Amino acid sequence: MTRVVVAGLGDSGLLTAIQLVRADRDLELVGISSKPALVSGQELGIRLARPDDWRRDYLVGFDRYRRLQGLRVVHGSLTGLDPDTKTVAVNRPDGTSYDEPYDVLVVSTGVSNGFWRRPGLETADEVEQGLYAAHERLASASTIAVVGGGAAAVSSAHNLARALPDAQVGLWFPGERALPTHHGKVWAHVGDALAELGVEVHPGHRAVVPDGFDLDEITAGPVAWSTGQEPAEADAVLWAIGRVRPNTDWLPASVLDEHGFVAVGRDLRVPGLPGVWAVGDVAATDPLRSSARNRADKLLARNIVADLAGKPLKDFRFAKRRWGSVVGVQPEGVDIYLPSGQRLRFPGWTARVVMQDLIARRVIYGGIRKP
Ligand SMILES: Cc1cc2nc3c(=O)[nH]c(=O)nc-3n(C[C@H](O)[C@H](O)[C@H](O)COP(=O)(O)OP(=O)(O)OC[C@H]3O[C@@H](n4cnc5c(N)ncnc54)[C@H](O)[C@@H]3O)c2cc1C
Repeated sequence: MTRVVVAGLGDSGLLTAIQLVRADRDLELVGISSKPALVSGQELGIRLARPDDWRRDYLVGFDRYRRLQGLRVVHGSLTGLDPDTKTVAVNRPDGTSYDEPYDVLVVSTGVSNGFWRRPGLETADEVEQGLYAAHERLASASTIAVVGGGAAAVSSAHNLARALPDAQVGLWFPGERALPTHHGKVWAHVGDALAELGVEVHPGHRAVVPDGFDLDEITAGPVAWSTGQEPAEADAVLWAIGRVRPNTDWLPASVLDEHGFVAVGRDLRVPGLPGVWAVGDVAATDPLRSSARNRADKLLARNIVADLAGKPLKDFRFAKRRWGSVVGVQPEGVDIYLPSGQRLRFPGWTARVVMQDLIARRVIYGGIRKP
């Protein structure tokens, strides 16, 4: 039996494992995860503003996925890869370590970004504690400054303003508009929604980030600006300035690009490491590293199975602009923005029942048991 090790069970690793089960039931699947459950990298705004809602869809025990009955999950942290013996080194929570052999290895260890995406080992209690501590810190603030102009920052400003109507929320970013890698129409629409919620929008502000400053915490103001404006005061400052760091310190430097991400071919193979593939935010597939959003897990599972059968591989195709939802599911529905900037609105119950319960839970994940 071919042993496939999935290194990192976040959004892309988990979906790749599910797709592998769909594609070929004769694989022996092992997943290595520093978290005891799926702790999704999606929907930061909802996570901070409505943690109970977020955990329903984005914090899910691995044993609840119907398709993953045969997956052996190892709770541990990857610390090395030996291509000669085809093994990865794993540290367990009890401090012991061991080598896990692979025939096929999927690298899907994602990126670190702020306090909400940390790669380290955590117990279920620690994950829960971190989730609610961040919410409580923000909920106790009268003024919140969200620094950053990407989807994580915009979604946080929107969802916090909705959930905490007594707080004054400001969004501060360096460009003329936020969401610079989305189509311009997306910011036009989302910016209007922020204004309706009373969020103060401050373009043209580039924050000074002092050396050694820990962006992995919610800090208190003031925030200074290198663009010359007066410092901004805030009880809580959420840093979402997109300083992502690839979780690749366990991999040989020879397989990384100049920014530390895994260099992959269009077929998602890692050149120079036979049997090794990469997907998700860690993989340098395209300028936006969009293989998670663009569901390359399906292609990857297909290519792995084709490769094992000696059949030709297919190439990953990607959109040049970011797309998807920005602020997530709201009581009135969810907006999905296409790369063209077109907005698709799924109102109220359709967002919850059709998109989340039917499409996400049953179609994408192949069924999730109740907790
Ligand atoms: C179905 C879907 C829908 C999406 N929709 C949107 C959208 O609408 N809008 C949008 O902007 N984006 C969207 N995205 C993209 C998404 O926000 C991120 O790109 C995605 O969460 C990245 O997934 P990942 O698996 O690469 O990383 P992660 O989910 O971060 O997973 C990496 C995992 O590896 C673990 N890990 C790290 N280092 C180690 C180690 N050394 N040892 C063991 N484990 C380790 C981490 O703790 C984590 O659990 C979507 C993604 C998916 C899959």
